[in-house]
Amino acid sequence: MDNNTKRVRRTSRPGSDSFGGDSGILNERVLVLVFESLKWDLHTLTAVAAVNRKLAAVAARLLWRELCLYRAPRMLATLTSGSIPSTAAPGGRIDGGWKALAKLMLFCCGYRGGGGGDGTGFPSPSNSPGHVAKASRFSKTSGRSFLAKKCRGDLLYVSDPCEHPAAEAGEDLGVYRGIFRGFMRSKTRAFLVKRGVRLEEKVRCPYCGARVWSMTAARLVPRSAARRLGSRDGGLEYFVCINGHLHGMCWLIPLSSSDEDRAEEEEDGESDGDDCEGKEENGSTSSSREDVMVK
Ligand SMILES: [Zn+2]
Ligand SMILES: [Zn+2]
Repeated sequence: MDNNTKRVRRTSRPGSDSFGGDSGILNERVLVLVFESLKWDLHTLTAVAAVNRKLAAVAARLLWRELCLYRAPRMLATLTSGSIPSTAAPGGRIDGGWKALAKLMLFCCGYRGGGGGDGTGFPSPSNSPGHVAKASRFSKTSGRSFLAKKCRGDLLYVSDPCEHPAAEAGEDLGVYRGIFRGFMRSKTRAFLVKRGVRLEEKVRCPYCGARVWSMTAARLVPRSAARRLGSRDGGLEYFVCINGHLHGMCWLIPLSSSDEDRAEEEEDGESDGDDCEGKEENGSTSSSREDVMVK
C-alpha cells in the first residue's frame, strides 16, 4: 500500500502534494484514456482501485462502470434503460455498485459448498474455485427460463453454465450467474417480499456480499430452468441477492439424443399462472440478437 501510494505521488503533477482535485493521475479523463489503452484490463483496474481511498472512490463511481460499458455495451444499455424507471441512469448508480456488476460480467464464482441445504444434493465438501471467465454468453432469453410465470415481466440476463469437474462420475457441476434489470421494482422481488420468503442465513452474494434469497426455497424455480441448463429437475439451485444478482449451480447431464428431442419442445414447467409468452428460442447452442458475449 505504502509503495503504491509513493508511486502515485511521484506521478502526480509537480507542486501537487495532495490527492485532491484533478491533478496528475487523478485526472479522471487521463485515467479513462489510460485504461482505454489497456483495454480495461481487469487486474490493472483492481490494483489501481486498491491503491488508496481516493482511487477506490473514482473506480467505484466511474472506472468500473466504464469497464462494464467497454466489455458489454448492449447489456449495459439494456440494464440501465427501458420501460422500467431506470435504477442506473448513465453516470449514475446501479444496484449493488458497478464493481459488483463488472465482477459478475467477468468472474465465475465457482462453488463453495454449503448452499441452501434444501436437499438438492449439492455436495457441501466439494469446493470448486472461482475464476476469471474467458468469455461468457449472457442471454435474456435464457433468463426468461429462470423466471416463474408470474414473474415473466421481469428482465433477467443469465449466463451459460460454466463447467466445473465434480467428483461424482458422469455429471459435472455447472456454475452460472445473472442479473435482473431494476430488481427493486421487479415482480420477482415483490413476490418474495409478499410471500415473506426469508433471506438465507449462510449464503451471501459472491458479487456484492449482500444477503440472498434461495429461489429453490421460495419455490420459484420453473422447470424450464433445468432444461435450459441441460440439468435435471431438482438438480439445480440458484440464489438472488437483494441487489438482483443471481448465482447458481446445477448438475450437468450428458445430452443424449432423446434429451435433445425433448428440448425442442420448449414449454413452461409451471401449471399455474399466466400463459408462457416466449418460445422463440431453445437450446444453449443457438444464438440470439439478445445474447451478449462478454470477454
Ligand atoms: Zn467456472
Ligand atoms: Zn449481489
